[in-house]
Amino acid sequence: MAENSIRVRFAPSPTGMFHVGGARSALFNWALARQQPDGKFVLRIEDTDAARNKPEWTEGIIRALAWLGIHEQDPHFEGPYFQSSFADKHRETAQRLYKDGAAYYCDCTREQVQERRSAEGNPHLGYDGFCRDRGLEPGPGRALRFRVPDGGPTVVDDQIRGRVEFEHSAIEDFVIARADGSPLFVLANVVDDVEMGINEVIRGEEHLSNTPKQQLLWRALGRTPPRWAHLPVIVNEKRQKLSKRRDKVALEAYQAEGYLPEAMVNYLMLLGWSPGGDREIMPWAQMEPLFAISEVNSSSAFFDEKKLRAFNGEYIRSLSADEFVERCRPWLSADAAPWPPENYDDAVFRAIAPLAQSRIAVLSEITPNVDFLFLDAPVEDEKSWNKAMKPGVGEEMLTAALERFADPALEWEPEALKAALEETGAGLGLKLGKAQAPVRVAVTGRTVGLPLFESLALLGRERVQERLRAALAKLRAASRDTEG
Ligand code: GLU
Repeated sequence: MAENSIRVRFAPSPTGMFHVGGARSALFNWALARQQPDGKFVLRIEDTDAARNKPEWTEGIIRALAWLGIHEQDPHFEGPYFQSSFADKHRETAQRLYKDGAAYYCDCTREQVQERRSAEGNPHLGYDGFCRDRGLEPGPGRALRFRVPDGGPTVVDDQIRGRVEFEHSAIEDFVIARADGSPLFVLANVVDDVEMGINEVIRGEEHLSNTPKQQLLWRALGRTPPRWAHLPVIVNEKRQKLSKRRDKVALEAYQAEGYLPEAMVNYLMLLGWSPGGDREIMPWAQMEPLFAISEVNSSSAFFDEKKLRAFNGEYIRSLSADEFVERCRPWLSADAAPWPPENYDDAVFRAIAPLAQSRIAVLSEITPNVDFLFLDAPVEDEKSWNKAMKPGVGEEMLTAALERFADPALEWEPEALKAALEETGAGLGLKLGKAQAPVRVAVTGRTVGLPLFESLALLGRERVQERLRAALAKLRAASRDTEG
């Protein structure tokens, strides 16, 4: 390891779906590690909360990172390490702090502390240092507390927030190991960072309040603390911190909807940072060398799903035609697509794909746009049906179109079909927009979709006629019912 090379880490706890906020932290760290020839990004899974951890969350994190381009094959990647495997080191370090006098045992219960604090008239203050000088030996029911030095603030030099001072009088002697010897987050996290030679810690703002305690621990262990950077919170359109209960935050949900990783990466990088100028759409390869942690803004960053969608649409449009087809595959596969698999025809899909590519914003939208080609009958969408099949329009238009389409001299290609339908509509006093709605719904099931004439051309004369006849029969049956 080169002496001054950056060593950053990403240290998620596998307690749930991987969050877009975690993805942003990972990407910022990744950019910094990759900027230096020997820079390292350490992935450390903080899996010490056995009750809340699940192996599938860990797998989800690793999969999501790989999807974003952060993967084990890259020489800047190190790990994954699992915090649970360093338990001995955590315990050993806690003992060392005790032996050095930097920590002491305490047998106070929460109720006792509360009682003393209330008697003083300070019910809201934390631990009062009762056991500081009692010289308790380790023993059952005794937790280990860190002795916060008297006097002086701890100054955290944050690369984003600048100088942040924490008065020691406001930091209680905090617990570093429970009565059963197990370490708390503040300690385990520092011990691992020390052992792994981490020299920059870039993480979410919610950890800023832990930082003075952690910096004190680094010093007590005789080590130079890392450079800190606390990233701004990510908020929704109501300026509320993104929450997994309220907001769509799981990276996997975006992946399932058909967001492209390159669009996601681009968008996430802009949550608190900008490459300058007014450029926003910028591929990772260009952003990576430009990224600077000191340029990250400290104010909260708005996660704007609409903007992300727009980015994704742009990235979709910039794919080559072949690549677009390949990216659509997961939505066309036998287990995902709504049509009988044997109906799928790749040549037909390839023919329509460019029309969809210029119109969809997320890949999952491919299915409703092309399903009419592969379903036995178009989807039934009552709203579309009622809108298009108005009395005096639906039945008349379908009848006229059927008659026109039966003409063997009509060439079955988009231009000719358009002219034919325009003429048919005009005969009924309908502009093309109005005239095509019943035909579109009869054939595709929906009022909106890909350009109609290309769609009709691809579906073929026979199937179009068959669907127009079926729709007409349905309309006639309905009007017979209402006539009684
Ligand atoms: N496991 C902690 C978390 O997921 C890591 C905090 C840190 O990056 O130091 O919040």
